[in-house]
Amino acid sequence: MALDTQRTVAELEELRQLTGDENGAQRVAWTDTWARAREWLRDKVAGTGATEEIDEAGNQWFTLPGDSDRALLIGGHIDSVPNGGWLDGCLNVMAGVEVLRRVAADGRAPLTVRLVNWADEEGARFGRSLFGSSAAAGSMTDQDELRRRHDAEGVALPDALAEHGVDLDRATEARSQLANAAAYLELHIEQGPVLESMNLPLGVVLGTFGVERHQITWKGQAAHAGSTPMDKRRDALAGAAKLALEIRPIAAQVGEGAVCTSGGVVCKPGIVTSVVETAEQLLDQRHLKAESLARLLALAKESSERFAAEEDVEVSWQRIWSIEPILFDEQLIELADASIREVSGSSHRLPSGPLHDAAEVARAGVPTVMLFVQSLRGLSHTKLEDTKKEHLEMSVQALDRLTAKALEAFS
Ligand SMILES: [Zn+2]
Repeated sequence: MALDTQRTVAELEELRQLTGDENGAQRVAWTDTWARAREWLRDKVAGTGATEEIDEAGNQWFTLPGDSDRALLIGGHIDSVPNGGWLDGCLNVMAGVEVLRRVAADGRAPLTVRLVNWADEEGARFGRSLFGSSAAAGSMTDQDELRRRHDAEGVALPDALAEHGVDLDRATEARSQLANAAAYLELHIEQGPVLESMNLPLGVVLGTFGVERHQITWKGQAAHAGSTPMDKRRDALAGAAKLALEIRPIAAQVGEGAVCTSGGVVCKPGIVTSVVETAEQLLDQRHLKAESLARLLALAKESSERFAAEEDVEVSWQRIWSIEPILFDEQLIELADASIREVSGSSHRLPSGPLHDAAEVARAGVPTVMLFVQSLRGLSHTKLEDTKKEHLEMSVQALDRLTAKALEAFS
């Protein structure tokens, strides 16, 4: 069977009809709709002869044996956020199905080829992203914390998993699935505006951003808005406000795609008649290079000390969360670049702001790469998410070329 890229688009439409409504995709992990999507996927793959296996973390694997036990993995996620888009996660899965069909039709491949539909990439119901892939990658270390999680209706995470045949205590046994992995490929919509702004259908992802997330607490003195002269004030918000603007030149100075966001400031007492005593500020900083990420943070801290002195307030920093940058495999980046150029003429290399299952697999030491296809208006996680049909078809073709090249390079 030759690659039929139109079939992928038709199947994505079919999935949208089956699991979406007027507000968008509703394939939230560990729900009936999600289970229906997985059954539908099973039927789609059946014709290839690949065997299905659900691992201990609920990941759905389809395996086509090859000459070697070593496996080329293609991954995606069929789960969505509530009111999600029609492509996030499932484009990768359905493109993978089409590639499996082509590989199966060509006869036995030099490597085993496996398609994985990761369980609960989005973490929409319990707030824990990358569930299945982190279990398989061996980076799931928060079992006790997961046990205590509940959804909005008060259902405990272990109970929701059990309804779908997954025992949280055994989830990390999914680790064995990556034992024979030779390489991992993932196609995804970009979910950002870069490729569209460059008028390019496809790009190669260099890796996922490292992230530093902090809460910065500014402490001044509450004082009456009428009786306190301007030069006698210790205004906590003034420090936060200066920093919120300073992160722009800091990001520009560090460059190479650096992004910094002050996503919120909570002021106390927070009334119109008082100078702000306490300002709690949120800061998110991201970069693809560890040194540059460290520099973004150091510059922001230095600036905050300076602003605290200028405003006669105190400042303190508390880390909320951080993750190191995860770089993809150089050889696979070259192969992905070549595949894209064959399909669309020119390629572009870009980092990924969002995390993906691919980052977990790469962290586990498996050579990994991702392809991005252009997102219209850069929108995702909304029913407005869209990609031109011809670009979707090109993305299936590029994944297929990359699969063929990787099978050759890694066998
Ligand atoms: Zn996704």
